[in-house]
Amino acid sequence: MTDYSQLSFWHETSGDDLTPRAPLAGDAEVDVAIVGGGLTGLWTAWYLLQREPGLKVLVLEKEVAGFGASGRNGGWASALFPRSAGSLERAHGRDAAIAMRRAMIDTVDEVGRAASAAGIDIDFAKGGTIDYARSRVQLAAARAEVDDARAFGVDALEFWDATKVKAAGALGAAFDPACARIHPAKLVRGLARAVEKLGGTIAEQTEVLDYRPGRVETSRGVVTCDRLVIATEGYGATLRATHRRVLPLYSLMIATEPLPDAFWDEFGIAHGQTFADFRHLVIYGQRTADNRFAFGGRGARYHWGSVIKPSYDRVPRVFDHLHRTLGELFPAARDVAVTHRWGGPLGVPRDWHATASYDPAKRVAWAGGYVGDGLSTTNLAGRTLADLLTGADTELTRLPWVNHHSPSWEPEPLRFAGANAGMLAMQFADVEEKITHRRSLIARVMGPLVGH
Ligand SMILES: Cc1cc2nc3c(=O)[nH]c(=O)nc-3n(C[C@H](O)[C@H](O)[C@H](O)COP(=O)(O)OP(=O)(O)OC[C@H]3O[C@@H](n4cnc5c(N)ncnc54)[C@H](O)[C@@H]3O)c2cc1C
Repeated sequence: MTDYSQLSFWHETSGDDLTPRAPLAGDAEVDVAIVGGGLTGLWTAWYLLQREPGLKVLVLEKEVAGFGASGRNGGWASALFPRSAGSLERAHGRDAAIAMRRAMIDTVDEVGRAASAAGIDIDFAKGGTIDYARSRVQLAAARAEVDDARAFGVDALEFWDATKVKAAGALGAAFDPACARIHPAKLVRGLARAVEKLGGTIAEQTEVLDYRPGRVETSRGVVTCDRLVIATEGYGATLRATHRRVLPLYSLMIATEPLPDAFWDEFGIAHGQTFADFRHLVIYGQRTADNRFAFGGRGARYHWGSVIKPSYDRVPRVFDHLHRTLGELFPAARDVAVTHRWGGPLGVPRDWHATASYDPAKRVAWAGGYVGDGLSTTNLAGRTLADLLTGADTELTRLPWVNHHSPSWEPEPLRFAGANAGMLAMQFADVEEKITHRRSLIARVMGPLVGH
């Protein structure tokens, strides 16, 4: 049997032995069936059951709750949305974009509030994100980000000059207070238990093979339901009905041995703070509650046909690159031991626009496409889907991401060529900026295609 505690550092330290729950015991009939036991599915179940305590809610999970990105991520509960405020304004108008930004910022606190209401300790500490600028080009990008945020009037970003930042070579930083550091597996595993306490059922080791409105075919029986929620995020690419809805893109992570407080003081990273820099090929890190680096980044390639395999979670070249990058940012980290290495797929929609959607005619809901910004956004999705599924008309159901329709990804070989070209372009863009000391032309051309 699979040892799920070995999936990541987070799974190993979740305080949960990850023994699978019972699978579906044959055919079943429920009010709401939810496909996928990650945070989208579980938050939806949790908020639904608070609203309608007698509801029969069944979560169908192929492996164990928290097996996917929800248990493996960087632990940034941020206010980030894959589309910037400016891009949302262009797509939906200023008022709608402001409402979306406000909802995302409030969601960071809601994650902490809801976890404690559910009795889950998730190591929540809201210390903000330091986004280092390590070249003149990055410094200009940091200033522009802070200026844009100020002009938009919702976010409370600050520009920090070189005197306030201690990462190697950092000339300044953009600081965003709207971000908390959490332990993602403690959240998702605790939430699964909280859903059960409210009367929900979670069937693990139960693979959904196909679905249509009102009917879900699984490896263990057929589920008939009044309403259906698809919460498979990057794994949606493995189901016929959602194959081209999202592209599974891999993000990989490492964790180091615990480091003394003096190390963190030297580099100015307090508990609760997360960090990144302004390079194009995304990196992200946090100081864990037990004083390790949990540090990740993109760079693993997209696989033909959107195939997802356990072996794709582990790419030595990317792990080495992550350790090297950590050492560049914090030279004293060069010699620290890397104790854990893992990765997983996240879901990228064709236009990089996440959504929480519901079709009342078919009674089918879906949320996802968060790219790398799903940890808080799944909570907003859960609350929003709970409103939509119960017919409530609220501020949340009027947000501009509700019922947003992204175009499908192209068939192969175009999807393969485009996704990997985008990845390479971001790598080249970072090199180009190092050489030319100017904002990358490649990034400007490719940016709209890869969500920058
Ligand atoms: C390495 C990594 C780092 C990340 N870092 C961050 C971060 O720091 N901050 C942030 O905001 N976001 C981050 N993300 C993204 C974030 O984790 C995801 O957006 C979010 O967890 C998505 O949650 P979900 O419930 O929609 O999907 P998932 O957690 O992927 O859940 C989908 C579930 O569906 C199940 N499933 C799949 N197929 C089937 C089937 N056929 N039948 C039944 N069940 C099925 C899977 O087993 C899985 O449990 C990161 C992602 C990764 C991979």
